[in-house]
Amino acid sequence: MFIDDIFDARDAAKREYDLLKKNKEAMKAQHTAYQRRITLEVYSHYGKEGKPVCVTCGEARIGCLSIDHINGGGSKHRQLIGKGGHNFHRWLKMEGYPEGYQTLCMNCQFIKQRQQKNVK
Ligand SMILES: [Zn+2]
Repeated sequence: MFIDDIFDARDAAKREYDLLKKNKEAMKAQHTAYQRRITLEVYSHYGKEGKPVCVTCGEARIGCLSIDHINGGGSKHRQLIGKGGHNFHRWLKMEGYPEGYQTLCMNCQFIKQRQQKNVK
């Protein structure tokens, strides 16, 4: 009787653990989907004609895109607000998409930085 109770408790604990694990994975997937949606919204807003593309060359691969601070100072600004990556995207949305940003691909970001430093 006592042994059966222990096994029952173990089974219940295992079922609970499996359920929590499943929920955790579902929540993680939901969070990833949410981040992806915010990123798409932000890139679209600062892209071209409402599309998530680089405003300079039209690159549309999401993995290549980033948000550029038009007048520079991006690193300092991100340090100031304490947000980078997805948190920065969420911050832009929460702030109602302030002006001064644009969607650029990493190549165009790099070219812009070199031009600003007068590197040929
Ligand atoms: Zn580009």
